[in-house]
Parts: sequence; C-alpha cells; structure tokens
Amino acid sequence: MKLRLNSLKEGAQTIELTLSKGDLAITETSFQQPVFAKLNIYKGTHQITVKGELNTNLNLECDRCLEPYKLNLEASFQSILSPIKSLSSDIDENIIPITPQTNEVDLTPFARDALFTEIPMKKICSESCKGICPGCGKNLNIDTCRCENKNTDDRWKPLKNLLTNIAED
Ligand SMILES: [Zn+2]
Ligand SMILES: [Zn+2]
Repeated sequence: MKLRLNSLKEGAQTIELTLSKGDLAITETSFQQPVFAKLNIYKGTHQITVKGELNTNLNLECDRCLEPYKLNLEASFQSILSPIKSLSSDIDENIIPITPQTNEVDLTPFARDALFTEIPMKKICSESCKGICPGCGKNLNIDTCRCENKNTDDRWKPLKNLLTNIAED
C-alpha cells in the first residue's frame, strides 16, 4: 500500500482503498479479501499525518468447538511523514522520515502490524460456545452429549444390580 505524496493536496483529505492481500504482503490463509482501507490524511506545511482504518474478515477455527467461523477485523494505525531528520526514528516508530524528493511512501508495514495486533489470542466462535465434550467428543453446540445419556442410565443401575443378584441366586 503505497501513498503518492505528489497527488496529495494541502489540508484534509480521505482516500478509500480496496486492497488485496498482496497489496499488504499478507500470506496468512486466515485473511480474506479484500481489505478495506480508509486513509484520513492531513497535509500540513511541514508534515503529513496519516490515520488509517482497516477492515476485513478472518476465517478462524474456534478453540472450544474446533468449528470454522468468520470474524470481522478492524484495525487502525497512525503514521507521521516528517522531514525533521533530527528526530531519530527510534523515538517514535510511527514517524516516516521524508525529504522534498520523496514521492512515494510505503504504508504496508503499518497496516500489517495494525491488522496482526488485532487478531485475538483466544479464538472463540461465540461467548456461548459450549465446546466439545471431553467424554464423547461431540460438538455440544450441535449434538447432545452421549455421556449425559449414560448418566441417565445410571439411575437404573441399582435396580439392574438387584435383578442380576436375584438371577444369580
Ligand atoms: Zn465454538
Ligand atoms: Zn459427552
């Protein structure tokens, strides 16, 4: 995702982009296409501020029930294009140093970082996901657990034992 500086006008402007995964150097299969990007740009006398909003969908697998599910991913980033060289880029990683000769700035690393930060550590299809029964392996969102049926049968166990004992006698 490259920004052409000579196409920017003074002041505020918004650029909306529909990006492919390739545009953002994303190879992860969980990412869907496209990625929508909205760049709110302000070009001042000395520097250019870029506020990016990103939106796409992810295909994930639920940690609890192991079923695939879709997640809408929103991310944002900010970068400042500044000609001030005295500012070391170590001070603020959002600063991109530019010179009067800079025609193009690559925002890909900012967008990628923002997106990857938003991927949840815990992937759960729904807060109410019941998960998988460790006993019978059934997805409890869809199926009824077989272990529960066994427990129901247990109520008849004393009677069964009684009958067996009688038979043995
Ligand atoms: Zn689930
Ligand atoms: Zn079960």
